[in-house]
Amino acid sequence: MSECVFCLIVAGELPSTKVYETDEVLAIRDINPAAPVHVIVFPKQHYTDIVELGESDPNLGGAMVEAVAAVARIEGVEAGFRTSFNTGKGGGQTVFHVHAHVMGGRQLSLSLG
Ligand code: 5GP
Ligand code: ZN
Repeated sequence: MSECVFCLIVAGELPSTKVYETDEVLAIRDINPAAPVHVIVFPKQHYTDIVELGESDPNLGGAMVEAVAAVARIEGVEAGFRTSFNTGKGGGQTVFHVHAHVMGGRQLSLSLG
């Protein structure tokens, strides 16, 4: 998956600003933040989206949830933030390596856009 930007980041072939890391999961700052806190959490292993991940390796999904919680604490937004998994073109996904957005640091609207 050498053309996958998140795989390249995992391999250290593209720079990123790391927020949190475990053996299985990496969390980095979004390059184009939509909120004061905007962190992307993704597994080091490549899965296309949450459907593939959930069907193939749900325990890794649990590791992602653990990382989301850790990131929320590190960033100080644990009292209020949004986590989303965009899935497929229709869901607004642009990087086809499963990832969770962790957004906070401002009042988020009810609208999901
Ligand atoms: P999606 O639209 O797939 O849900 O989200 C992909 C996110 O990854 C976008 O918010 C985009 O700004 C971010 N992104 C894309 N390429 C890079 C990159 O090379 N580095 C970082 N840190 N974020 C990226
Ligand atoms: Zn990948």
